Amino acid sequence: MEVLRSILSCFSSRSRAQSHHGLWSSGASDKNKSMVEQLQRYGVIRSTKVAEVMEAIDRGLFVPPGGTPYHDSPMPIGYNATISAPHMHAACLELLEKNLQPGMRALDVGSGTGYLTACFALMVGPEGRAVGVEHIPELVATSIENIKKSAAAPHLNDGSLSIHVADGREGWPELAPYDAIHVGAAAPQIPEALIEQLKPGGRMVIPVGTVFQELKVVDKKLDGTVGIRDETSVRYVPLTSKESQLHAR
Ligand code: SAH
Repeated sequence: MEVLRSILSCFSSRSRAQSHHGLWSSGASDKNKSMVEQLQRYGVIRSTKVAEVMEAIDRGLFVPPGGTPYHDSPMPIGYNATISAPHMHAACLELLEKNLQPGMRALDVGSGTGYLTACFALMVGPEGRAVGVEHIPELVATSIENIKKSAAAPHLNDGSLSIHVADGREGWPELAPYDAIHVGAAAPQIPEALIEQLKPGGRMVIPVGTVFQELKVVDKKLDGTVGIRDETSVRYVPLTSKESQLHAR
C-alpha cells in the first residue's frame, strides 16, 4: 500500500511530467481503453468503478482537434486553460470515489472541458447530481457539446448533470451541500464558500498554492470539523478572476 502510495504521489507530483511528458510517451497509448489500462498498470487506477467510468467516457471527445487525448499529459483548451493529464483525473476520481456513490452530489469547480463532470455523472448516477461550474462561457458551451456526444449525455437530458457559468470560488450554493467537491484550478487558499458547501462526511480535493502547489484533501467530519492533508505536489492553472486568466501571459 505504502509503495503504491508513493508511486501515485510520485506520478502526480511531477509538475514537469504534467507540462511535458507523462507516465508513458507518445505512441504507446492511442486509444481510450489502453490509456485506462496503462493507468491501472501503473497503479494510479485501483478501483474497478473508476476504470469502468474512464473507459466509458472517451477522453478523445473532450480534447480539442489536433490534440493527443490519450497521451498522459495536459492539453491546451484555449483561454489559458488546459485539460488535466489523465493520471490527475484518475487520481482525483480515486480520492473521491467513496464520495461519488450512486445518489450522491458532486461539484466540479473549473469544469473546463467537462470531462471530469461527465465522469462524476456516471459515478453518482441518475439519482445523484453532478454540477460543473466554469467562468469562461465559451468553455461551458463546448463542454456541453462534448458531453452530448459522450456516455454521460443521458444525464444532461434527465437533469442529473448541469454546467453553469459562474465564479467557482463561490461554489454553487443552489445545490449544496456536496458529498464531493473537485477543484480543477489552483487556489491561493481554500475558498471558505467551498468548505461551507461540503456536506458533513464530504470530501474536497483542491490544488492550493501559486508557484508551489499541493493537492489538498479536505475531509469534513460528521461533527462538522475539518481535516486537511497534503496528497502530492502538482501544477494547475490558477483559480482566479476571468480577467486575470484571459490576460495572463
Ligand atoms: N478539470 C478541467 C480543468 C480545466 S483547467 C478539465 O480537465 O477539463 C481549469 C479550469 O478552471 C479552466 O477551464 C478555467 O477557466 C477554470 N477557472 C479558473 N478560475 C475559475 C473561477 N474563478 N471560476 C470558475 N472557473 C475557473
